[in-house]
Amino acid sequence: MQALTDTYLETRASENLDIGAILKDQRLGRFALLSSFGAESVVMIHLVTSLARETPILFLDTGQHFPETLAYVEHLKSSLGPNLHIIKPNPDLTLSEDPEKTLKKSNPNQCCMLRKSLPLGDALQGYDTWFTGRKCFHGGLRSFMPMIERDRQHLKINPLARWSKRRVEAYFYEHDLPQHPLERFGYASIGCEPCTVPIETGQDLREGRWADMPSKLECGIHLGPDATLIREA
Ligand code: SF4
Repeated sequence: MQALTDTYLETRASENLDIGAILKDQRLGRFALLSSFGAESVVMIHLVTSLARETPILFLDTGQHFPETLAYVEHLKSSLGPNLHIIKPNPDLTLSEDPEKTLKKSNPNQCCMLRKSLPLGDALQGYDTWFTGRKCFHGGLRSFMPMIERDRQHLKINPLARWSKRRVEAYFYEHDLPQHPLERFGYASIGCEPCTVPIETGQDLREGRWADMPSKLECGIHLGPDATLIREA
């Protein structure tokens, strides 16, 4: 896998990583896309279902999503027909660690660990490579995101990392894609309901996540619970 990582790392400076070619590359082994089904997620879902329809698309159903997000999942399921895999937290562990469902306030890193990081870690056991739809223009720690990363035993590819907001909007327009229903209310980055608010004009797109917790910037899927990188780039 190291040679493959090195080959792909050479494309990091490119604005035009060929997503179609990557999705057909046998050397990636078994791969899946992780999608939040949040704002802009449909771009990567559409690319994957158009170019490699059988690609598993993993959705972490934390049990804390907006009803609008769950409705959007259903809508995209019927309109695009993704090979959707819904991943849920371990119910026994969640019940024992968070019986009152208060961790999101008292210890959000632990809440994200239970509801996102651990279930994703289990789900990824079946794959060699995973894709994300993250983009640098979302700001914060994502500004410096590489297009290709090593994630412990996995290769992790962020094909849209260098896409601009304008390019994303053009893709929506070109393919007549539906927006997440909360986008029109100012939600720019959409995760769990208790930890997501709309943003004001001029704010970074990620500023609506954990808005009352300035030190928490990511959920732990991509960065450690203390917001440090745990996956070697
Ligand atoms: S985003 Fe909030 S509700 Fe969702 S898992 Fe993390 S702390 Fe819990």
